[in-house]
Amino acid sequence: MSNDASAAEDSILQCEECLPPADAFAIVGNETRLHILEALWAADRPAAFSDLRRSVGMRDSAQFNYHLSKLRGQFVRKTDDGYEFRQAGKAVVRAVLAGTYNQDPELEPFPVEGECVACGSGLEAAYEDERLEIRCAECDRPHGSFAFPPGGLEDRTREEVLSAFNQRARHLACLTADGVCPECNGRVRTDLVPAESLGHREGHPISDQEVLVVHECERCNNHLVSSVGLTLLDDAEIVSFYRDHGIDLNTAPFWTLEWCIGDHYTEVLSRDPWRLRVTVPLGDEELRVTVDDDFAVRHSERRARTGDAAGTTDTNPEPADADDPLETQDA
Ligand SMILES: [Zn+2]
Ligand SMILES: [Zn+2]
Repeated sequence: MSNDASAAEDSILQCEECLPPADAFAIVGNETRLHILEALWAADRPAAFSDLRRSVGMRDSAQFNYHLSKLRGQFVRKTDDGYEFRQAGKAVVRAVLAGTYNQDPELEPFPVEGECVACGSGLEAAYEDERLEIRCAECDRPHGSFAFPPGGLEDRTREEVLSAFNQRARHLACLTADGVCPECNGRVRTDLVPAESLGHREGHPISDQEVLVVHECERCNNHLVSSVGLTLLDDAEIVSFYRDHGIDLNTAPFWTLEWCIGDHYTEVLSRDPWRLRVTVPLGDEELRVTVDDDFAVRHSERRARTGDAAGTTDTNPEPADADDPLETQDA
């Protein structure tokens, strides 16, 4: 118990109607019990007591029953069909498979497709501290860095690692932007923040941007900083714009999309309230989308890259002076 009463009240170890976390970890901190969970995982369906005992290779039935009974309740339950997982039991096995607790692999940086948005040099992928980062091989400018548990490196070629990373990153960015923490399922607060106000923050990843999106989980403090473009990767207008050009945006590596990585294609139309315009260039056309601080697309417009608008879709009427970015102050 802590001497500091207020710290004890806020502690993650504090819980009233739940299994205290230290007890939960103690239950699974045992090789036989981890073997039982592993055997259940391998069975892939409810398993009988005798089958589990055989898989684990324990002769002493009373001893085996003792360990199994410890898992019952929070991790495993008994049904008419046999023993089966509860979610917590699966989470333990998945955590082991993800390799976070017992693997620390290294991966030499290797070249990847795409060009640095800052200097035009080639990009490379690097793996450090369970994060995969795409960065410029020359100037180090980051082009995306996301947690990537070490289990994801196993049995995958570099190409497959990159493809998995691409899917994982867009999933993390879009889920977080939708207000759900990918780590703990808690509520995520999202703010648009002028880059200068982030200057003091350690690890602020993108130094050449005017405005950044900061996601922060209210429950676990999971923290993600991204460009505006990255939160728009699953936007229907943008996805169909790409589809009309014969490109599946879901599989395009996000770090090759310049509008997504930097804010060269992002204009600040207004700061209070926030209103931004992101221009997505593609072939001979461009799509301009206007978003506000909840990242809802308010207006979109397709136009020839050197001419007049090719077509306009209004989800909300746009102020008439929208062509003058910094003049537009009224929402
Ligand atoms: Zn560079
Ligand atoms: Zn969280």
